[in-house]
Amino acid sequence: MGKRVVVVGGGLIGLSIARALTLRGISDVLVLERDVLASGGTGKSSGIVRCHYGVPSIAAMAWRSLPLFEELGDVMGFRQVGYLVGVGPENVEPLRANTESHQNLGIEAELIDHEAVARLWPHMRLDDFAAFSYEARGGYADASQLALHFGAVARDGGARIRQNAPVARIRTSGDTVTGVELADGSSIDADVVVVATGLWADRLMSIVDIDLPLKSLRAELVVVDAGEPVRDVPVLSDLVSLQYVRTEGSGGELLVGNSDHSKPKYADPDNYSNQVSEAGLERAAAKVLHRFEKFPNPSVSHTYAGCYDNTPDWNPVIAPVGFDGLFLAAGFAGHGFKISPAVGTLMADLIVDGDSTDPDIPAADFRFERFAEGKPLTSLHPYAGAGEMR
Ligand SMILES: Cc1cc2nc3c(=O)[nH]c(=O)nc-3n(C[C@H](O)[C@H](O)[C@H](O)COP(=O)(O)OP(=O)(O)OC[C@H]3O[C@@H](n4cnc5c(N)ncnc54)[C@H](O)[C@@H]3O)c2cc1C
Repeated sequence: MGKRVVVVGGGLIGLSIARALTLRGISDVLVLERDVLASGGTGKSSGIVRCHYGVPSIAAMAWRSLPLFEELGDVMGFRQVGYLVGVGPENVEPLRANTESHQNLGIEAELIDHEAVARLWPHMRLDDFAAFSYEARGGYADASQLALHFGAVARDGGARIRQNAPVARIRTSGDTVTGVELADGSSIDADVVVVATGLWADRLMSIVDIDLPLKSLRAELVVVDAGEPVRDVPVLSDLVSLQYVRTEGSGGELLVGNSDHSKPKYADPDNYSNQVSEAGLERAAAKVLHRFEKFPNPSVSHTYAGCYDNTPDWNPVIAPVGFDGLFLAAGFAGHGFKISPAVGTLMADLIVDGDSTDPDIPAADFRFERFAEGKPLTSLHPYAGAGEMR
C-alpha cells in the first residue's frame, strides 16, 4: 500500500508539496486548510521572482523554479520584466561575489553599468548607486494564482483538498506520527504528516513538544501612483534606500516594500493592522521621492501589511522533524514564492527517497537541527545593512 500523506496548510508551500508528491506517483494526499486556499501569507505576497541570494542552495531553488513560471506565463500573470539589484559603494564586493556565484550555478545574471540601468529604468535617480546586478529572466507574478494552480495539478493527480478544516493537533504513537486530529474532534490516519502552516507552524509543533523558533515579522506595502504610466521596468531591489519596487497593474502604480529590517516589528499573525503605520508611510514616501524624483505627481494610492514567518537565520526548515513520518516546511520569510516549485520537489524527494536528488540543493542546508547546533544557514557574501537580502 502507498503512503497516506496529510499536508497541513493550503498556501503556496503546502499545495506545491501536494503537487510534487502526486507528480512522484503518491496519490493518497490530503491537504487540510483551516480557512480557504492561499488565505495566509500567500495572499499577501509581492510575487517577486529573482535568483539573487547569497545562500547558494536558495539561489539554486529559485533558478530551478523559474522554468515553471515561464511555462505558466499568463496563467499566473508572470511579467518577465527583469530584476535589478543596486548597491552602494560598501556593497560592491558582495554584489560581485554573489553574481559570480550565481553564474557558477548557471543562473543568467550579470553586472551592468549606470548607462544600461538608465535605459531600463528612466525615472530612477542613480547617483548614489555604485553597482548593479541584473537578471533579465526575473520579474513578478501572482502568488495566489500559482497556489491555486498547484492545487489543481495535485487534484488531477489524485490529491484531495479540504478547506475549513483546521488541524488541532498532530497525533503520534511512540516515535512515530499516526495522523492528525481536526478541531471538530475527528481524526485522520496518516503515515506521513507535512506541516506547511507558515506563520502558524510553531503552534502545531509545540503540541508535539517541538520548539520551532518562529517570529512573525510585520511587512508593510505602499502602492504609489507615479502620476504617469510606468510599464515594463524591472523589479528593483534598492539596497541603498532599503526598499523594493515593482509595477502594480498597468496604469502607473508601483508596489513599494520596505527592506529595512534593522528595527523589526513583530505582530500576532491573527491580529495585526492591515494598513501601513504613519511612520512607515513617511519613511516610504521619503525613499520614493528620493529614488524617483522624476515622477511628475506621485501620490499614495493605498497601503496594506503582511507578516513574514521568520526563523532565526531567515531561511526555511524543509526537513523531517522529531517523529518518524513528521515533516516541516516553514519559515520562508519573504522568499517562499519564488522557490515554491523547488520546495515541493525537495519535500517530495525527502518523503520518497529520504534525501535531496539535486546536488545544488543539499537537504542538510534546511535541517531543523541547525538552530540548536548554532549553525545557521547564512549568506556567503552578506550585504552590509541589508543582511536579510541574503
Ligand atoms: C508581504 C509579503 C510579501 C512577500 N513577497 C514575496 C516575494 O516578492 N517573493 C517571494 O518569493 N516571496 C514573497 N513572500 C513570501 C511568500 O509569499 C511566502 O513565503 C509564501 O507565500 C508562504 O507560503 P506558505 O504556504 O508557507 O504559508 P501560507 O500562505 O501562510 O499558508 C499556510 C496556510 O496554513 C493554514 N493553516 C494555519 N494553521 C493551520 C491549521 N492548524 N490547520 C490547517 N491549516 C492551517 C493557513 O490558513 C494558511 O493558509 C512575501 C510574503 C509576504 C507576507
